[in-house]
Parts: sequence; C-alpha cells; structure tokens
Amino acid sequence: MHAAGFYHEASDGTLQCDLCRHYCRIRPDRSGLCRVRRIVDGRLCSLSFGHALAQTGEPVEQLPLYHFKPGTSTWAFGTPGCNFTSADCLNLESSRSGRDEVDIPFTSPGQIVENAIKAGCSSISCSRSEPTIFAEYALEIMRLARNAGLRNIWVSNGYMSTNCLDAILPWLDAINIDLRSMDDAYYRRICGARVEPVLENLRYIYANGVHLEITTPITAGHSDSPAMLERLAGFIARDLGPEIPWHPIPFHPRISGKPEESPASNAAALASAGTIGRNAGLLYVYSGTAQDDTVCRYCGKKLVSRRKMLGHPSAVRYDATGACPSCKALSPIKD
Ligand code: SF4
Repeated sequence: MHAAGFYHEASDGTLQCDLCRHYCRIRPDRSGLCRVRRIVDGRLCSLSFGHALAQTGEPVEQLPLYHFKPGTSTWAFGTPGCNFTSADCLNLESSRSGRDEVDIPFTSPGQIVENAIKAGCSSISCSRSEPTIFAEYALEIMRLARNAGLRNIWVSNGYMSTNCLDAILPWLDAINIDLRSMDDAYYRRICGARVEPVLENLRYIYANGVHLEITTPITAGHSDSPAMLERLAGFIARDLGPEIPWHPIPFHPRISGKPEESPASNAAALASAGTIGRNAGLLYVYSGTAQDDTVCRYCGKKLVSRRKMLGHPSAVRYDATGACPSCKALSPIKD
C-alpha cells in the first residue's frame, strides 16, 4: 500500500487529508470521502496509486483541449474514486468505487510513460477520473514524462487544495477544468462541493501561466439558465482572460445516475450558451458543433480546422510557425 503525502495530524488526533478542499478528517481504518485514501497502521495511504484504468491513446481534442498541441494524441488514464458525488458523472461506476471494489492490475509510473511513447502520444493525460485524488501517482508519472520529453495534462473538477496545486503546477503543461455553474447551491446539491474553491483555483492556475481551458456541461433545468451562464462567461472574461477557450458541451442523460432529474441539453441551449460567451467578450467559444474551427481573432483566417467524425475529433493546423498564415499575428495555439 502506497504511503500518501498531503496530510497532517489535526488537534483532535485524527489525520486530516490536505489534498482537496474537503479536508477530510479521517479516523483509523476509515477512508476519506473519495474512498481511496485510508488510514492504515496510523498512516494515510493512497489506495489508488498504480491502479490505472481505461488507458488508451486519443486525440487531445477529445479532452477537450483545443488550443494545446492540436492534432496530436494523448495517453489518457484514470483511477477509481472521486472527491465529487455527482449523480451525472461520465464515469459513474469507477468514480463511486473504492480501490478495493475494483480489480485493477498495478501499472508503474514508468510503464504509463512507456505505454504513451509506444502509442506515439506526445502527452499524458490524467483525465479519466479526478486526478487530485491520485496526486502522488500523477506526480511520479509527470516527472518521468517530462524527462522523456512528453507533456503533462490534467482534466479536473478544480477542487484541489493549494498544497496540491503548488506541487503539480511546476510539472503541468495544460489543464481543462470543469466549471459547472456559478451557483453554490448547484455545486452543493449535484457535486457535494462548493463553487468558490473552484473559482479561486481557476484564478490561481491562470496566474501561474499554465495553459487553461474551461468546460461547462449544459444540463437542461440545472445549468442552462442564461443569467447564470452570463455570470459564468463574465467571470472567465473578467477574472481570467478573454483568450481562455470555453467549451459549453452537451450533457448526455443516458450516462446519468438520475436521468429523470437531468433531461438532455439541446442544440438551441448550446447555441444560446455560445452566443452568451461571445457577448461576454470571450474570443474562443466552442459549443460542441460538428465543425469547431479556430480562426484568427484579427483577420478571421482559419488557424485550426476541427471535424468530429462519429464523435471522434480530428484537427488540421494552418499556423505551423505559431503565427496566422494571413496577417502574421501571434496564434493562440500552444505547443
Ligand atoms: S482527497 Fe479530498 S476527499 Fe479524498 S480524503 Fe483527501 S480531502 Fe477527503
């Protein structure tokens, strides 16, 4: 069992996990809310370390990341457990599992890097489940990946502690964070969390210069209110920057834990979210259409062409020198 970092002894004698904003106080032989960090023999242990699931190469656009190495493949994986309790999670089965409830073979950090290289990937993505809860495993992989010339990506709910962020940011090249709503009541009810820590972390990540993109799943009746989306898009434009790519994406009720409570978002709701984002001043809004191109903000020339073939995106770049091929302005795409 792998010894965890990110904890200390609290005043009441319990051990407090300092990895995410829940700051669980855990008693002997019990686990934290994520179910994969447990006190064993007086120490906090990471039960998910090395137990990677759903490893595969995929287009980086699938994460989604649209302004980071478009057209390349990334080696994606996750582990069981999650620090959110979302009923509508894309990976409900694994996110609700404790490590000991799922039979997953051990994959060393070095093997993950080898797998990525063999598959011709240029990056590794901790993306199939919330990476915060397996931060020790992710950190070992990120160090090895950086030394091997690969880039490191997280796809996260943004609920990590500042301690966790300070540990990962030096190794992180790009991150996509789910900002699901601006309403604290929504975060409490649907995610079992709070919105303010997510907003604080978004500001912190942006200030530290890591490539950042934001995704908002549009859920009818829950997160499609124009007034809320105006606040959300306004937050991105004002507190982060108008150049941050924003992905309002459709919600698929068939994978929901409670489909009756979560009707599908529709094309009109997505188009409306896109308009709200652009009206808020966001320069790059990608609202899940079949053709989601990036164009130069100055002259309108196409920089990246993206097409979704059976839901699988492919990208063609025209900004090979890092500049618009027409007006020569700096491209927003990062490598
Ligand atoms: S990672 Fe978060 S949810 Fe899991 S034990 Fe630590 S504080 Fe609790």
